[in-house]
Amino acid sequence: PAVVGILALQGDVREHAQVLTALGARVREVRAAADLDGLDGLVLPGGESSVIEKLARMLGVAAAVQAAVRGGLPVYGTCAGMILLADRIANPITGQGSFGGLDVTVARNAFGSQVRSFETELSVPQVSADPVHAVFIRAPAVLRVGEGVQVLASVPAARLEDPSLLPDGGFLASSGQVPVAVRQGSLLATSFHPEVTGDWSFHRWFLEWLVLPARGARLSR
Ligand code: GLN
Repeated sequence: PAVVGILALQGDVREHAQVLTALGARVREVRAAADLDGLDGLVLPGGESSVIEKLARMLGVAAAVQAAVRGGLPVYGTCAGMILLADRIANPITGQGSFGGLDVTVARNAFGSQVRSFETELSVPQVSADPVHAVFIRAPAVLRVGEGVQVLASVPAARLEDPSLLPDGGFLASSGQVPVAVRQGSLLATSFHPEVTGDWSFHRWFLEWLVLPARGARLSR
């Protein structure tokens, strides 16, 4: 089976492990650079992005994740994980950086505080024939996307705590929608947490369309 790492420094590691295992992957918790060796894919969980990034830098795993992303390793980031993959954070806490790789700008906590957490059904035709149940918990919003970024799902911008965050005149503002699921090459990111809902469609899609093809290409070399 494919071996999928989960960055296990903080956040909802166990929930991702349960879904990936149920879908037939072998899971490895990643805490050090060496844990990345031989992985077929990597998940960056939800949690607190600034804490995860700081720990990753201290443990020397941040640079290794960055190198893996540049090398084409399929990576799926949920919520805090999306922030970690983003090239730009509009509102970082002091000193907060990201691993980067995904050509987007995100705003942390853009849908408001914990108490404004919400659930909704998303239409994501590329990923699932049925609506996908999505849970947003202090979720980030994607404010800008680069050219190579495919938007898989979005929600009305009215959901944002401060819709004026959206850049004027950009396609995001004119569509009245904010992206909440994006894909660029081998990178996938969602503002929400499929790992907590029992809806496995994003994990299944990640394994089928990003992890297994990359593994096949590697094995046939
Ligand atoms: N607000 C968190 C952050 O900025 C993300 C929340 C989550 O992962 N549920 O990292």
